[in-house]
Amino acid sequence: MKPFAYARPATVAEASRLLGRGSPAIAGGTDLLGLMKGGIAVPERLVDLSGIEGLRGWSRERGAGLRIGALTPLVDLEEDDRLARSLPIVREALADAATLQLKGMGTIGGNLLQRNRCWYFRDEAFPCWLKGGIRCFAADGESHYHAVVGTDAGCNRVTPSDLAPALVAHDAQVRLASARGTRTVSVADLFTDPALHRREEHTIRPGEILTHVVVPEAGLQRRGTYRKAMDRKAWSFALVSVAAAARVREGRLRDVRIVLGSVAPIPWRALEAEQAVEGTTVDDAQARRASELVLRDAVPLKDNAYKIPLARELVRRALLRLAGA
Ligand SMILES: Cc1cc2nc3c(=O)[nH]c(=O)nc-3n(C[C@H](O)[C@H](O)[C@H](O)COP(=O)(O)OP(=O)(O)OC[C@H]3O[C@@H](n4cnc5c(N)ncnc54)[C@H](O)[C@@H]3O)c2cc1C
Ligand code: SF4
Repeated sequence: MKPFAYARPATVAEASRLLGRGSPAIAGGTDLLGLMKGGIAVPERLVDLSGIEGLRGWSRERGAGLRIGALTPLVDLEEDDRLARSLPIVREALADAATLQLKGMGTIGGNLLQRNRCWYFRDEAFPCWLKGGIRCFAADGESHYHAVVGTDAGCNRVTPSDLAPALVAHDAQVRLASARGTRTVSVADLFTDPALHRREEHTIRPGEILTHVVVPEAGLQRRGTYRKAMDRKAWSFALVSVAAAARVREGRLRDVRIVLGSVAPIPWRALEAEQAVEGTTVDDAQARRASELVLRDAVPLKDNAYKIPLARELVRRALLRLAGA
């Protein structure tokens, strides 16, 4: 690992002055340190956010929704019974995400901003498109874990975060702070639209700190559920995941969100399936019909066509669970 400087600012303002292209933020370090050991991230200076007060824990205020500090460890979110009553999908999404030790170090901000898991990306020897090269090695290489949809930028990575689809299903937002001020963007828009052909995974700008995740009151009115398929029984990244959420009254679903993880470079909304179940009571036949609409535009690579039936089955199960059928 190349030597680097280290700073531990005490305030968001101080941190944002220190952050920049060669000076990334570090929270729990569970992703960034691995990238540094692999020679993929070569910072000149690390800006450790752990000394900043006020970015841990969560609160819920009437009318203002739920506010979670970006440095809150994942395990604190998973184990909090009160949070599980306000937003149960967080506990479900984290149940099989990484080991307890990793969840003790990893934070919600870092989880949303973690880099993708493409093995070519994580191997120094492959100068792929996302790292400034001219080709995507997954396009005609090993593509078991890669995207089946939304890949028109030449990169077939997927979003690895379990929290991202769950939070998008509840219309969550993130607060970003920098020396220029603060801004709020939806979690969906935190991920770079592949159609823009930018060699970046997130829309956070150099110098910005993710300070909070906010779930608005309307998002909290939805019931949500998270389904995840993995290679192993637990603690691994999703092959495919599905977050589904809706307001449910007398078995009828309204304001439906169906968001897929690990199928595209961004959390992927299954809009046709959402429309198919909007305002309906969902039984098995209806859930099956809606699930058939999922990923109809998918163009799988050599090894990953299995993701399409897998995603449909997870959507079917998630809808039935939402409807309580
Ligand atoms: C073996 C293993 C298995 C895993 N399995 C899963 C899984 O199943 N599901 C899943 O969702 N995740 C999984 N993860 C990923 C894990 O959840 C993330 O590594 C963790 O959440 C990252 O959080 P962190 O605080 O350690 O981030 P860091 O490593 O500190 O940072 C990650 C990135 O985010 C940036 N960053 C962090 N916080 C901020 C902030 N507040 N503002 C601005 N930039 C910031 C950093 O600059 C860096 O680029 C796994 C990881 C490992 C190593
Ligand atoms: S999928 Fe993206 S990250 Fe992986 S090799 Fe292709 S361009 Fe690189």
